[in-house]
Amino acid sequence: MTELVDSYLFSKRRVDEDKHQYASPRELKLAIDELHKALSSPNAVTTDPDALRTYGSSENSYHLASPHSVVVRPASTADVVEVVNISRKYRVPVTAYSGATSLEGHTSGYPSGSICLDMSGMDEILQINETDSDLVCQSGARWEDINEALKAKGIPLFFPLDPGPGATIGGMIGTGCSGTNAVRYGTARAEWFLNLTVVLPNGEVIKTRRRARKSAAGFDSTKLFIGAEGTLGIVTEATLRLAPVIPTKVAMAQFPDVEHAVSAVQEILNTPYGPHIQCIELLDDQMMSAINNAGFIDHPYPVKDTLFFKIQGDPFCIKGTSKAVQAIVKKHGSSRFEFAPTDQEAQDLWQNRKYALPSTMAANPGARCWTTDVCVPVSRLPQLVLETKKDLANAGLRSTIVGHVGDGNFHALMLFHNDDELKSVSDAVHRLVYRALALDGTCTGEHGVGIGKKEYLVDELGEGTVELMRVIKRAVDPLNLLNPGKLYPERREPGKEESHA
Ligand SMILES: Cc1cc2nc3c(=O)[nH]c(=O)nc-3n(C[C@H](O)[C@H](O)[C@H](O)COP(=O)(O)OP(=O)(O)OC[C@H]3O[C@@H](n4cnc5c(N)ncnc54)[C@H](O)[C@@H]3O)c2cc1C
Repeated sequence: MTELVDSYLFSKRRVDEDKHQYASPRELKLAIDELHKALSSPNAVTTDPDALRTYGSSENSYHLASPHSVVVRPASTADVVEVVNISRKYRVPVTAYSGATSLEGHTSGYPSGSICLDMSGMDEILQINETDSDLVCQSGARWEDINEALKAKGIPLFFPLDPGPGATIGGMIGTGCSGTNAVRYGTARAEWFLNLTVVLPNGEVIKTRRRARKSAAGFDSTKLFIGAEGTLGIVTEATLRLAPVIPTKVAMAQFPDVEHAVSAVQEILNTPYGPHIQCIELLDDQMMSAINNAGFIDHPYPVKDTLFFKIQGDPFCIKGTSKAVQAIVKKHGSSRFEFAPTDQEAQDLWQNRKYALPSTMAANPGARCWTTDVCVPVSRLPQLVLETKKDLANAGLRSTIVGHVGDGNFHALMLFHNDDELKSVSDAVHRLVYRALALDGTCTGEHGVGIGKKEYLVDELGEGTVELMRVIKRAVDPLNLLNPGKLYPERREPGKEESHA
């Protein structure tokens, strides 16, 4: 595995190509000296080789990886401006890094040298405006810590975007994240981010909006940075819209197969009770078996394709919705529907869903795991899941499947032990993406593009749309300093197909 990652490091060809665009080794050294002077607090700048390697790679990604040349930890927007100005002066690429939970090689270094801008220390909540249901924080704040802080203060509000454990606001904006709550609350592309403070590549600090709940003042420049993966600016602060905490109940239902489970989802969401459904998650039989075997739970669950529900509302709404859900799942062949009897059990049940990856890993000691996500119109999901399960079985691959089925979003967690199996997994991911595109879906419902999904963008969106993105990138970052090599696919030569490495 290490050789595999090593073989990508400092690819000679790419370094030669970049000779004129980016800093020479001498300029890189000057830039690092200047960073030491600009950020003088202890540990603000490190060139420790182990740290550079750790920051430049990810346990969750098997794409091209390179160590960074230096890691900097700013404490303020002014520090970020200093870093960006030094980056521009010496033409050294900058990669923003915060929770490091992204899955597509988003935060890897650049082969000719790069600055890793670790934003995780800028994690303060700056202002809570309870009456307005909003909050201002630094971009390194974690979504879980924000919700814990609100709870600890007795404020009955929460921030509903819930990606991976440990993810931060900056990274969530960067990837355009979502999570289990998207059925009810939508994604990062909804209006949960009201205003952003952003350091642009030219060193200017902008605010994308004010704190008003809505604004029609020009086009939505906040959205420009959502899903931009740190390629257009560095977000240092954000104003988040909050939602009221509503009582919820957690339930689960087992089905004979995925097709029955997913068809029940469509029917439930299309009833008048649909708006009371906060989340609907699919865990396939393999995932349920992994949860049982991971050693995190006291009582094993039935090993069947299972839907987990969060139903929200007052007791009257929950009762009515539960009755409707129960009737519908029964009609679709569910053998068992049960509520978590206590709040603690509900929390534990939900935690098992959120920890699908650690459960998959713990149940398969010695294996590595490639997590991928695609999304299709909900009605096409059964076909996608069935064909994918067949494909993985034919390829001899072990995998668990979890999905935010309420949105048609589906993750395969594919296991491998060696480089040959890694190649089979990579090929299976490729086939999965094209299966999703053929069903009018997307190569990524929520994890973003990074390095891993770059090659699919033109086939999904068309050359014109991708070129529009490149035009914006060139206008905002003409020296291509912010997170180069990610998100934007290279332009295809006419008549030449993108090759699958
Ligand atoms: C177990 C697990 C479960 C997950 N479940 C989900 C899920 O349900 N839904 C989902 O959407 N994702 C999920 N993810 C993926 C991941 O949590 C999200 O992509 C998350 O939004 C990344 O946030 P982060 O803080 O970790 O960002 P990072 O990984 O640090 O960075 C992500 C991207 O944002 C950029 N970036 C970081 N900070 C800034 C900044 N301040 N300004 C500008 N750009 C910045 C980076 O350069 C990078 O391109 C999961 C991951 C794991 C490991």
